[in-house]
Amino acid sequence: MPHDPGTVKLVGAGPGAADLLTLRAARAIEDAQALLYDALVCDEVVALAPAACVKIQTGKRAGRASMKQETINRLMLRLARRGLRVVRLKGGDPSVFGRVGEEQAFLNAHGVATEVVPGVTAASAAAAQFGFPLTHRGEARRLVFATATTRDGTLTDTGWAADREATLAFYMGRNQLPALAARLVAQGRSPDTPVMAVENAGRADARAMPGRLGDLGQALAAVGCEGPVVVVVGEAVAHAAAFSDLEVPATPVEARS
Ligand code: SAH
Repeated sequence: MPHDPGTVKLVGAGPGAADLLTLRAARAIEDAQALLYDALVCDEVVALAPAACVKIQTGKRAGRASMKQETINRLMLRLARRGLRVVRLKGGDPSVFGRVGEEQAFLNAHGVATEVVPGVTAASAAAAQFGFPLTHRGEARRLVFATATTRDGTLTDTGWAADREATLAFYMGRNQLPALAARLVAQGRSPDTPVMAVENAGRADARAMPGRLGDLGQALAAVGCEGPVVVVVGEAVAHAAAFSDLEVPATPVEARS
């Protein structure tokens, strides 16, 4: 869709590799006059924007502090009101823990039109790269995108946790995951449930650590801690090749290029 001046496109950048962008996302970036991008968006993707495009990083990286959400909102508004084609670029899919609802509501309330362009979310990238499905007939009938913690730092509600036919994909809150895993087990999910912690999913330097819910802490300790990590829990994960010879938590599996 053409990008009207003075509007904002909220665009999913996917998990990191430029060839995992949708064509629509790539076109929006190539056509942008102002680009606001999160720290999770890789340089390769930002480089698609024209040289003359105003490029603003809004997330934490190399020790720089993140911009406050309110500041980002105001900045998008100001750039759109100047009549620029603004792209707000977010890692993965903007609708999955991407605050897309808040940004869209703010802009629309101030009379600025928005369009959302979806992206490949981290869990999908992890599943594709390490060879397991997120749903599987007869085994994994539901998929829950969850985060370990709530805004005030308490563990998230896990009323749904004992459901053994659900695949759980955990975003953020990595330090809370061992405590959360213990709670899932206390609520009836088997400690033998397969888990896979994937760092830098979708990128050439991705690493995956297979394990069991009962020893999630060990699996997490074994993946690197530089990049973002998504943790997928559920029977479907056992279809990954990395799982077939798993007896004890093994060494991390590198991505095949
Ligand atoms: N909108 C993003 C998620 C943003 S929340 C998406 O759809 O993927 C940020 C969290 O997402 C990170 O803390 C991590 O848990 C996960 N994440 C994002 N990109 C990732 C990647 N390439 N590999 C693994 N996890 C990732």
